[in-house]
Amino acid sequence: MQVPNESTINALGLWLVEQGRRLPWRARWSFFGLPPRCFFCHDPANLGSVDVCSECLSILPWRVEPDRLASTLSAFAYRDPVDEALKALKYRGDRCAARLFGALLAAAARDRPRPDVLIPVPLHPDRVCSRGFNQSSLIAKHVGAWLCCPVSSYGMSRIRATPSQTTLHAAERRHNVEGAFIVCSEFRTHIESLGLRRVALIDDVVTTGATLNAAREALLEVGVVDVQRWAVAKAMPTKSTMPT
Ligand SMILES: [Zn+2]
Repeated sequence: MQVPNESTINALGLWLVEQGRRLPWRARWSFFGLPPRCFFCHDPANLGSVDVCSECLSILPWRVEPDRLASTLSAFAYRDPVDEALKALKYRGDRCAARLFGALLAAAARDRPRPDVLIPVPLHPDRVCSRGFNQSSLIAKHVGAWLCCPVSSYGMSRIRATPSQTTLHAAERRHNVEGAFIVCSEFRTHIESLGLRRVALIDDVVTTGATLNAAREALLEVGVVDVQRWAVAKAMPTKSTMPT
């Protein structure tokens, strides 16, 4: 994994400006009907429709996957200021963070083969009830808008309420989410009738990849040929979660 150089950052910024012009007009403005401002420094944003300025864009902890055909993508390292912004989304429902990271994840995925559909990693219904939203769905909606790609928020379900992964070892994480996902019957019929072959799963944070892999297995079992795993940020397992 490489840290992007200046020309890569410039290319990201150019893509955001160009692609932002193709967004529906309502998506080009902030939630308050005002021109976008930078999420981080609060200055007026200067990259068209995305809520970040070029200076902050250049200092974010980007990760660049050299192989554009790789099946995994995480746009950032899970560290300052990305970690705090994602926590604001997950625990305080900050929709501005979802809007920003949806655009930036789309920019990171811009050169990849375009999926037929995006599927956010589902939460268990109990978790959705207590939190009020699925943060991955909020992000996926914006990724879809930027990549002109449909989003299926109900294509998969989480049928087991799994304990939080944060304190588990890698092997425990795998066991924790094994068989936790199913593909909904309506979506299965779409796989055949619409010829859906390539799906990208969307998550906010990936650590060992156990959750995304379990969801991927469920999709492969029902005939999806290529399942990409896209996350906004990659967290390093802490010592307490490393396999012993
Ligand atoms: Zn800024």
